[in-house]
Amino acid sequence: MAKVKKVKVRTGKRYRSGRASDHYDAIVVGSGIGGLTNAALLSLMGKKVCVLEQHYTAGGYTHAYEREGYEWDVGVHYIGEVHKPSTMKRMFDVISEGRLKWAAMDPVYDKIILKDKEYDFVAGRENFIDELCKHFPQERQVLEDYVQLIRKISSQTPKFFAGQAMPSWMSKVYNWVRPFLVTKEFFKNTREVLEGMTQNQELISVLTGQWGNYGQTPRDASFLMHALIAKHYLAGGAYPVGGASDIARSIIPTIQKSGGEVFTYADVAEILIKDNKAYGVRMQDGSEILADTVFSNAGFMNTIEKLLPETSKKRHNTAAWTKNLERSSAHLGIYAGFKGTSEELGLDSTNLWIYQDGDHEANLDRYNNDPMADFPLVYISFPSSKDPDWDNRFPGKATVEIVTPAKMEWFKQWDGSEWQQRGEDYEAFKEQFTQRLLEKLFERHPQLRDKLDFCELSTPLSTNFYQKTSGGEMLALDHFVERFKQSCLHPQTPIKNLYLTGSDVMTAGVGGALMGGVMSTMTLLGLKKGKQVMDLFKNYQEPEPQPTEEIAPLKVNVAS
Ligand SMILES: Cc1cc2nc3c(=O)[nH]c(=O)nc-3n(C[C@H](O)[C@H](O)[C@H](O)COP(=O)(O)OP(=O)(O)OC[C@H]3O[C@@H](n4cnc5c(N)ncnc54)[C@H](O)[C@@H]3O)c2cc1C
Repeated sequence: MAKVKKVKVRTGKRYRSGRASDHYDAIVVGSGIGGLTNAALLSLMGKKVCVLEQHYTAGGYTHAYEREGYEWDVGVHYIGEVHKPSTMKRMFDVISEGRLKWAAMDPVYDKIILKDKEYDFVAGRENFIDELCKHFPQERQVLEDYVQLIRKISSQTPKFFAGQAMPSWMSKVYNWVRPFLVTKEFFKNTREVLEGMTQNQELISVLTGQWGNYGQTPRDASFLMHALIAKHYLAGGAYPVGGASDIARSIIPTIQKSGGEVFTYADVAEILIKDNKAYGVRMQDGSEILADTVFSNAGFMNTIEKLLPETSKKRHNTAAWTKNLERSSAHLGIYAGFKGTSEELGLDSTNLWIYQDGDHEANLDRYNNDPMADFPLVYISFPSSKDPDWDNRFPGKATVEIVTPAKMEWFKQWDGSEWQQRGEDYEAFKEQFTQRLLEKLFERHPQLRDKLDFCELSTPLSTNFYQKTSGGEMLALDHFVERFKQSCLHPQTPIKNLYLTGSDVMTAGVGGALMGGVMSTMTLLGLKKGKQVMDLFKNYQEPEPQPTEEIAPLKVNVAS
């Protein structure tokens, strides 16, 4: 029997007061992909950076966790553009120094299911159009125009977000002229744009069948966000070889090389600010760590509401900053383990997006008012089928994840209770969702019914516990049109030496948050030096291919 490959899923080094240096060039609060990107880029420029993560493992939503002999990703079901030469692949290559590898998914990356009809999203522009034309033969021109438009939006995105790499005063001026530099669809919502292209509501429902990726139905989501996601996956999806935890695992050595560290169990209580200048952080244990610069990857709301001292909140009237912003939707997540390999169980890597019908808005509204109404969206992912290294680590096993929206207020009565001790009524409430969601899976894959070995459901309270959110939000801030006009969502804050990073300064998604890390690093460095970041990407050389195709085990930092 082949030897089982052992990889510890937890990454980062456990924080204890005294383990960190007294002073760093930069501190990053939170180890999401945005924060890790900041830290890695600055480290590549010789800076000593300390990443402080409150969770027991690094990675933010890109972390993986294990239970009962299984492992699941949490917020990385698929990523676009990284399985082929692209700017995003190059960025991941730079921050991981080539250690992070990607595996392409099945060419059918998403299957949209509207009641009893199925529509495949097939990798590649022509394939995508040709496949949908089988269902909508009259709509070829609309589909051609649609793909053309999302590509246009994508190509103009650097112009749209250019202000995020400028000093904030300049960005305000830039954003004023921005509408003249990009196409008008950047400032419209998704339904408005699509209804301007076709009257075919079924086609609109299919094209917006990935709305869960941006957490809002076409009525409310900006077309920019829709287009970025649709284009991101147009050439197909990919998954990190070795599972989601390989993202942090492959980036951490870059940060350590210049004397930095990624600490876990490192809960930051407050950002230290004097005379409107950030100079470090105070940890929950009371110790202080000092730095020339502080980045917050903890999310905009967390930073403003929980990490700023009261004096700074008052001085900058931060209540006004959050007025025009909304937390994104919370979610329920099933993490299930099955006896049998993916192959034996007949599972492939295609994601399923299951809808009762195509009326996304009405279905979500109904469900938001009544959690026992049919789910407005059931997303099913098969992570063990996506990772070519899975069978080496977990022979004879397969995993499935199911995600559906949820509202924080349904769980409010248990807020404040202890994790895993929330009581029988909580467990009973959860159990109803668990059974209903599993049923959706078994409708598609009845062969899994008697192979289920382990299953647990996460709720918005789990998200708050692990991510330190307050509303269980899965995608940080919502992506409606006005969000992209808020000048407070800029890497540079009015507090000197304090920068924001991650998805809130760009967009949600692993790629969006990574870009947040790039932009905030560039903002810190300033207009002239910021170019050095681009040079890192431009000058990156692929390492020579190794003689063996075997997946090289990576050096692992295990939380002690
Ligand atoms: C269920 C789900 C599925 C998803 N699927 C995909 C997908 O398939 N593809 C994709 O591209 N994106 C996906 N996403 C979105 C994506 O994972 C996120 O948008 C992205 O990872 C966010 O990165 P970030 O850097 O902004 O911050 P986060 O990953 O949110 O990290 C913030 C970190 O800050 C830490 N923190 C907070 N407060 C403190 C404190 N006081 N002290 C120390 N640390 C603190 C938190 O613990 C957390 O680790 C998914 C998200 C979810 C929830």
